[in-house]
Amino acid sequence: MTGNYKKIINSLGKNRIRFNEILSGYTSLKIGGPADLFFKASTVESLVEAVLAARNSHTPFFVLGGGTNILFPDEGFRGLVIKNETSRIRLRGLTGRKYEKKTQSSFVDKVYLEVDSGVSINRLVRFSIEQNLAGMEYFLGQPGTVGGAVFINAHNMKEGAFFADRLISARIYGKDCEEKNVPGEYFRFGYDRSAIQKTGEIVLTVTLELKIGYKKLLWEKAKSCLEYRFKTQPGGVFTCGCLFRNIKHSDAIRLVTPGYTCSAGFLLESAGLKGKAVGRAMLSSHHANFLINMGGATAADVLKLIALIKNKITQKYGLELEPELVIVRSLN
Ligand SMILES: Cc1cc2nc3c(=O)[nH]c(=O)nc-3n(C[C@H](O)[C@H](O)[C@H](O)COP(=O)(O)OP(=O)(O)OC[C@H]3O[C@@H](n4cnc5c(N)ncnc54)[C@H](O)[C@@H]3O)c2cc1C
Repeated sequence: MTGNYKKIINSLGKNRIRFNEILSGYTSLKIGGPADLFFKASTVESLVEAVLAARNSHTPFFVLGGGTNILFPDEGFRGLVIKNETSRIRLRGLTGRKYEKKTQSSFVDKVYLEVDSGVSINRLVRFSIEQNLAGMEYFLGQPGTVGGAVFINAHNMKEGAFFADRLISARIYGKDCEEKNVPGEYFRFGYDRSAIQKTGEIVLTVTLELKIGYKKLLWEKAKSCLEYRFKTQPGGVFTCGCLFRNIKHSDAIRLVTPGYTCSAGFLLESAGLKGKAVGRAMLSSHHANFLINMGGATAADVLKLIALIKNKITQKYGLELEPELVIVRSLN
């Protein structure tokens, strides 16, 4: 055990840390070796405490949300993995009109929720619909946490809905070990992009602006989004969802894809890669961009499959596909 690890253990307390925790159990792909140190943060304060402990001891750390878009190495992670289990959803404010004597009426039009980054997207969707709040219904069935959704700007492409659409501000934890409140624009959101992919800042909470809706209609919309998911995505498999980001619009125009689709799945399918496998890692035969672990796949299988696909697509279409999957490199 290194001196740096001892500092973390002293700071967080031995009973709160797990040693050599196997990471495959925490990812939807079911891949990944042991983390030297593993800590579950159930409050924002303990999340900050763990990040600070790692930084103070110059130890690599990784904040893990739902583990639904992540590939950990077979060798595991040399450092501290912090599993974000923060779970609070709070009312921050309302806008509307106060009670007016003349019309004998009042109304609320917008509601502001402050949500911990560890809250699961599905819980947030269900909660907001039950409160008659509109804006999250497109994400029913979307795996992962709020923090992971900010990181990638999670999206429902069919509905043109992005998680960032409702995010007006966030509390983040920076490299300087300072907490700060930032407006939504700070993240410079784009398709599959947010600034924190480069800065490494940690999302602690977000504030969402939701409109007043009607529960029955919101459930109808949410269920139709879920049904579309079931129809278009493979079910009951170990997967991380889409493996590659969609291509740029300029490339779709150059390649004259049907309807100028930017879908990476379309390119994979037309390159004959649907169902392609290396070892036990495979592209789904149901949805060409879905990566599947057929049982027993290793990170090495996945990396080989990615390299093979990228090569073929570059040769055939003259462009470089970019993984959507977050690949954690081995530090061994
Ligand atoms: C079946 C299936 C369907 C999917 N469908 C969709 C879809 O329709 N649309 C879509 O966009 N994605 C989809 N995905 C991908 C995935 O669900 C999203 O990318 C999701 O937002 C990942 O969230 P997570 O909490 O699981 O992140 P993780 O996989 O845990 O982490 C991903 C990255 O986010 C970072 N991160 C997590 N929390 C924080 C935080 N608090 N602060 C800073 N960084 C953080 C991690 O460090 C890591 O780099 C799907 C995945 C699966 C398995």
